[in-house]
Amino acid sequence: MPEPDAPGRAILDQIDALPRSTRPILICDIDEVVLHLVRHLRTYLVANDLVLLEDRYRLTNNIARKEDKTLLSPDAVKRLLQEFFDRQSHDQDLVDGAHEALHTLAERRDVIFLTNLPGVHNKPLRERLLASYGFSFPLLVNSGPKGGAVAALSANREGRAVFIDDSPTNHTSVNASLPTAVQVQFIADDTFRANMAQEPHVDLLTGNWSETASFVSELS
Ligand SMILES: [Mg+2]
Repeated sequence: MPEPDAPGRAILDQIDALPRSTRPILICDIDEVVLHLVRHLRTYLVANDLVLLEDRYRLTNNIARKEDKTLLSPDAVKRLLQEFFDRQSHDQDLVDGAHEALHTLAERRDVIFLTNLPGVHNKPLRERLLASYGFSFPLLVNSGPKGGAVAALSANREGRAVFIDDSPTNHTSVNASLPTAVQVQFIADDTFRANMAQEPHVDLLTGNWSETASFVSELS
């Protein structure tokens, strides 16, 4: 098992600023969980004459020119994604059922959004977009694997923490830092989800918010 990831100062400061609470916690990602991402990325790539070679959780060495399938360099992928987030962060579709499920679950748990949003300048845009969809849960911006942040957020809370995220890297990290967490791997995109093998530390692999709400509600 990988070593636990230590949370950075920036995320610890955001955690310290939250109101103190001992209620059970539910930590939820945004991209591909609450807001669609892959569908917007596909559209963006098509508009730029680019294509994903495989529908998998890999962007470096997986984005190519549509015409001749030449791979973009890692630096070019990084620039492309930053530009994509700068353009798209204010305009992403809501995943069906996310609003109702999270508000039902919030009756028994503190819901905290934990996102790895490239560009801190995009945080206000994302907060406005989430508010327009009726969400007012706190939004924390992390960078890197999320295990350290999830362990710190879950300290001194009743019950087992629930972690909902699409990224296999983040689930591995949470398993290393907080093995007691209940891990829901939520992937809205059907093809990406179909290509994902469920790891033993993942308790539920789904793309359905009503199934997620039932699963979490049944936890003691
Ligand atoms: Mg995500």
